[in-house]
Amino acid sequence: MAEMTWELFHRQVQACGMCQLHKGVRNKVPGQGDLHAPLMFIGEGPGQVEDEEGLAFVGPAGQLLTRMLAAIGLPRDRVYICNIVKCRPPGNRVPEPEEAEACRLHLRNQFALVRPKVIVLLGSTAAKNILGPEIRITRDRGRWYERKGVWFMPTYHPSALLRDPSKKREAWEDMQSLRARLMELGEYGDIYGPR
Ligand code: SF4
Repeated sequence: MAEMTWELFHRQVQACGMCQLHKGVRNKVPGQGDLHAPLMFIGEGPGQVEDEEGLAFVGPAGQLLTRMLAAIGLPRDRVYICNIVKCRPPGNRVPEPEEAEACRLHLRNQFALVRPKVIVLLGSTAAKNILGPEIRITRDRGRWYERKGVWFMPTYHPSALLRDPSKKREAWEDMQSLRARLMELGEYGDIYGPR
């Protein structure tokens, strides 16, 4: 089997038709950011603006995420950001389990290439797909899960914060917890932190 590279990963995503979601998309949205970031964010799937631009988290929710990262000293271009599915589900519906499963191969390749130490799961779809169907985002957000030496934390998807600003206080607590985890791992203060 050919060694996985970023070039091969992007070619595979662009050519992918492993689930029905590729039909009708304007652009695939593989993900982007620092290819060797210690910190990775995973959301649900591309929305309208992301589908138009081919980039993850560039719409209103993405702009909020950028501001939240900046508030704890994380430059957006120094993290890696992607989604469970790389094609926009029609009408922004939640991806079906078989669509998420089909796209898992691409996500696995991203894990292997980036090799993050900390992964933040944005919203219920990301949290359930990665940590298990028993996860409840309102109950389990802000908790840390260690799997094979990698730390995972579910938190609200920024689009949920736009819909319900009362969740922002908890989301802020989660960002503080993320900063504390990065500090503990020695990953805050070098590429992350106040400049
Ligand atoms: S969502 Fe993922 S698995 Fe489905 S067609 Fe797009 S890239 Fe392939």
